[in-house]
Amino acid sequence: MVDKQAVQQFGESLRGELIVKGDAGYDEARKVYNGMIDKKPALITKCFDVADVITAVNFGRENNMLVSVRGGGHNAGGLGICDDGLVIDLSQIRYTHVDPKTKTIRVGGGCQWGDVDHAGHAFGLAVPAGIISTTGVGGLSLGGGVGYLSRKYGLTIDSILEVEMVLADGSVVRASAKENEDLFWAIRGGGGNFGIVTSFLFQGHPVHTSFGGPTLWHIDKTEQILKWYRDFMVNAHEDLYGFFATLTVPGPPFPEVLHGKKMCGVVWNYLGPHEKADEVLKSARDLKPDFDHVGPIPHPTLNSMFDVFYPAGLQWYWRADFIKDIPDKAVAEHAKFGESLPTPHSTMHLYPIDGAAQNVGKNDTPWAYRDANWAQVMVGVDPDPANNEKITEWTKDYYDAIHPYSAGGAYINFLMDEGQDRIKASYKDNYDRLVKIKNKYDPNNFFRVNQNIKPAE
Ligand SMILES: Cc1cc2nc3c(=O)[nH]c(=O)nc-3n(C[C@H](O)[C@H](O)[C@H](O)COP(=O)(O)OP(=O)(O)OC[C@H]3O[C@@H](n4cnc5c(N)ncnc54)[C@H](O)[C@@H]3O)c2cc1C
Repeated sequence: MVDKQAVQQFGESLRGELIVKGDAGYDEARKVYNGMIDKKPALITKCFDVADVITAVNFGRENNMLVSVRGGGHNAGGLGICDDGLVIDLSQIRYTHVDPKTKTIRVGGGCQWGDVDHAGHAFGLAVPAGIISTTGVGGLSLGGGVGYLSRKYGLTIDSILEVEMVLADGSVVRASAKENEDLFWAIRGGGGNFGIVTSFLFQGHPVHTSFGGPTLWHIDKTEQILKWYRDFMVNAHEDLYGFFATLTVPGPPFPEVLHGKKMCGVVWNYLGPHEKADEVLKSARDLKPDFDHVGPIPHPTLNSMFDVFYPAGLQWYWRADFIKDIPDKAVAEHAKFGESLPTPHSTMHLYPIDGAAQNVGKNDTPWAYRDANWAQVMVGVDPDPANNEKITEWTKDYYDAIHPYSAGGAYINFLMDEGQDRIKASYKDNYDRLVKIKNKYDPNNFFRVNQNIKPAE
């Protein structure tokens, strides 16, 4: 228990808001994206600026509190929040600034990806990110970042030029290829283990309106389509990206005849000349999709296309793997689990991470699986907590069936609380170097509400 007077003084020293357990607004402030997470922190600081972040870090450390850092609050395992501790909420540190000369975008540590898409689009620039625009820039970027631009421009970490961070001792540092290089290496995949990033500088890339959208087939065609997809995708030009999914078609804007139908399909993003798109997508169209909605699409629209189907507050249960190959036996499992999707929101995605994402060496950043071709995730999702057992069991069974065909570890941003061995398997031989850097910057493991790199004893 922290002394009441100290809490009051802490609150008064902040420019942003301090929310104490029991305050009006407390229950709203402790909600995260995954409705399955129900943690009750003692204090939540809505930091207004870097000064507030420094104050909060010092307060947490001096009072020996468990501290969690919240960016977009999307983490599946609820790593933005904690029980009984202090939440350092960055959601008010939300600004962007584009420099058209250098084609760079400076982004506040509490931004969501939609902010970056919006800011960059006006200048014809984009940064590789994920497929839902409400995801936080902080968590996604520090863990890796996979999405529609990965095959052409690499992972999100490959576009980070510099960060400004508040360390566990309250000091502020910059990390880049020229400054604190060890820290710069570690934050490009090592998650929130090393400090709080208050500002990112990203390299933007020339992306404005691409040719994208889904082609879908009825679920009974999964084996045929997935076998074609796995061979087609890895041989496709880097301008073409397509993630494979099994899903249930929601309501509008999809045609009524498909509502509630289980389907498999590919969501495309072609960055080459539009007049070549039909030729590039010909082999998909030769397979006669039951739904084809691929056409010119502005990048922010593509990146937010699924937001409406996945609002905050649904129940989510995740499992993930890195995948090099998809043998026929794995294809058969995907077909089986696709047929048995437990609820309409549940889904499986295979996100390509080949192409440009493989141009970086496996020890150049903590992301050790530069030779994997996909980051796969299977998620049981539903609005109703009464279905939690159903979605959890389906996800676990699916994972057990597919994991033997995986590359070993998984993208850490797709993990829930799966233990230290799984974290080590995901970093492979980069783990020891991460521990060394953790020892230097956070030897007392102050930042431990994350996929934790434990300092050496
Ligand atoms: C619906 C959905 C879709 C997704 N799609 C994709 C996708 O397409 N591609 C992809 O790569 N990932 C995707 N993800 C996974 C996503 O990358 C992770 O959930 C990520 O942790 C979210 O970051 P956040 O800032 O929103 O999360 P939070 O829950 O706020 O934080 C997650 C972790 O990051 C740390 N953190 C956050 N911000 C900072 C910061 N500024 N400084 C230091 N530490 C920080 C937190 O302490 C915590 O440990 C998706 C997640 C969801 C729920």
